[in-house]
Order: sequence, then C-alpha cells, then structure tokens
Amino acid sequence: MRLEGQGADCGIMHTPMDTRRFVKKNVRLLSAYEAKEIPCKVKLDANESPYGFKCSTRAFSKIETNRYPDPEAKDLKKAIAKDLGVKQRKILTGNGSDELIYYLITVFGGPVLFPVPTFSMYGIISRALGEQQIVVPLDKKFDLDMDSIRYAIKTEKPRLVFISSPNNPTGNCFSADRILKVVSAARGIVVIDEAYQPFASHKGFVPLLPDYKNLVIMRTLSKIGLAGLRVGFLLADEEIIHEVNKVRLPFNLNSVSQAVAIDILKERKGLRSRVKAIVSERNRLFREMERMDTVHPYPSEANFILFTVQDPDRIYKGLMKKGVLIKNMNSLIKGCLRVTVGTPGENKEFLSALKNVLRVN
Ligand code: PMP
Repeated sequence: MRLEGQGADCGIMHTPMDTRRFVKKNVRLLSAYEAKEIPCKVKLDANESPYGFKCSTRAFSKIETNRYPDPEAKDLKKAIAKDLGVKQRKILTGNGSDELIYYLITVFGGPVLFPVPTFSMYGIISRALGEQQIVVPLDKKFDLDMDSIRYAIKTEKPRLVFISSPNNPTGNCFSADRILKVVSAARGIVVIDEAYQPFASHKGFVPLLPDYKNLVIMRTLSKIGLAGLRVGFLLADEEIIHEVNKVRLPFNLNSVSQAVAIDILKERKGLRSRVKAIVSERNRLFREMERMDTVHPYPSEANFILFTVQDPDRIYKGLMKKGVLIKNMNSLIKGCLRVTVGTPGENKEFLSALKNVLRVN
C-alpha cells in the first residue's frame, strides 16, 4: 500500500534492496543455459533439422484463440499413439522434452545419475531443483561404463537415471545390452532419451516398455523439423504418467503447437523422406571429413557429427568468420567440435570453409 505523501516524491530515500539474497543458493550458483543468437549464414550448431514444414490453413482454422488449449492434448496423443503403436494413456506431452526433464526430476528427485559427456539439461535442471547429481564418465569408446554405473547404483542409490541414446554430443547409441542392464539394475526410474532415435539404425526401446515398469522413453519432434513448436513426449507405464501429470502445468502445450503437430504427423512420407535425406547427408559428410588429414569424425547415429581437430578454438572462430556456425565442445570434450547435418548446400559450404580454415595456420 502506498500512502499519500510517502515514497520517493516526498524525499524519503529507500535503501536499494539486494534481491539476490532471497534467491535460493542452488539457483544463485547456476549459470543459465547458453542459447546465444549468433548471426551466421549457415547455422549448424543446434541439432535442428534443415527442413521445415508448411502448415495447412486447415490446421490453423481449427484454433480458437480465445480458448485455452486442450490441457490433455488428446488429439496429439492420439496421433503419437497411432504413429508409435502405444496406448494414449501411456503418453504425456510437454513443451519440448526439456520441460519433461524438469517434471521428471521434480517428481522423482535425486540423486540423479547420468553418464558424461551428455545433454547438459539433466545437470542444469537437477541443480536448479537442488537435487544431487551423480556423473559417471563414459568409457573410451563413448559407451556406458558398466562397472562404474553398477557401483554408483549400489552405493548412491539414484532415484532417476538419464541415458541419451543416441547420445548428444558423442552421436553414438550405447550398447542396447548395457542399457537394459542399467534398467534392470536400477532401483529407480530409468529414462532413455531418444531425441535422436529417428536417425539411428537401432530401432529404440519403445517395444520394450511393457517389460519394464521403471522405464521411461522420452522423444521430441524438435529434431525432425518442428523445433519451433516445442513438442516433446514421454512414454511410460500409466502409474508413472499419472504421477508426472500431477506436476504438469495445466496448459503446457499451446493450441498452435498442438494443431500444427497433429497436422504434420499425418505427413508420414514427408517426415520419413526428410530423415532419410539427413542420414544420407550425415554419411556423406562423415566420409568427406574422414578424408581430411587432421580431422577425426566419430561415427554418428544422430543428425550431427562430433569431430576432433588440432586447434578447435581457432577452427571454430575461423568457421564463424566465414559465416558457418557450429558448436564448440572443446571445454567439455578436449579437442572436439560438433556440426549439425544441414542441407547438401549447407554441408558443402561447411566442408569448404573447414578445408580453408585448416589450411591457414
Ligand atoms: N534431449 C537431448 C538429448 C537433446 O539433445 C535435446 C535438445 N538439444 C533435448 C532432449 C531437448 O529437446 P526439446 O527441443 O524437445 O526440448
């Protein structure tokens, strides 16, 4: 309440308030996820698809802008259920899978175990929610180190395990056998994050859902051309869906995203052909990079390639000067950069810029 005659206009000085002291310690110590907008000609840094979709006016005409969206995203779930052959009640949709990671950690809590290097949001969200994290380095082949994971499961008893397969940023799928051993050994929930599964030769773990009550599969439409819509989803046993649904914000998926996603999921052929084009370009990109003397690309089952070069920071900056933006992973994996697979034209520009930058010493 502001009384007449009080406040700045009557000459009383307020001591400036340090609002930071009210911020919880675990949040104060965090740094925000870096998603900088760096202007560039060729954007190959964020594992997006180079191919977008045009949405039909039919989909837009159904949207009632004055009404809240369907809180349960029923029609979208129906489309996903049909696509993947799972029951609608075993699906939960999110505003991107990032939001679902938030929900899972909110519901199950920590310790949260994940192998490293991997997708940074498992760690960022665990910290934001004040949960303990257990990081287990991958082995030399970027596969799960089973001895260390078994030991961590036994001693630290994680309530939640995140496994990204194919893994971002290494690009490989972990051995299926090892993943299943983790699912069996864990006393808590195991989330297999299949964000990049559409690009993999392995068919993924959806068919195994009925066999494991603690298994959660996480998928997203972001990597197959719909990153701007923010649509992710979980597949799990109904009991898990029921619990996670309690913390879900009621209208977490807006009407436009629901309508457009439903419309585009019907375009199965279009979706499949775009994925095929990316996989074929990925393989070509890999072969071309393998031919370069000081470049070592790692085989990939995703829509990006991790590679080593001798002077990653210089190469990264050199590419950026030529208008090609990729991701510098050097601080996370020594000597490494990551490039997203683009259109044939974009990949050509990347390759030629890379050759050029490598030549200049
Ligand atoms: N999981 C992994 C492994 C990812 O790499 C990403 C995005 N980079 C996500 C989840 C998040 O995807 P979304 O756009 O659905 O939030």
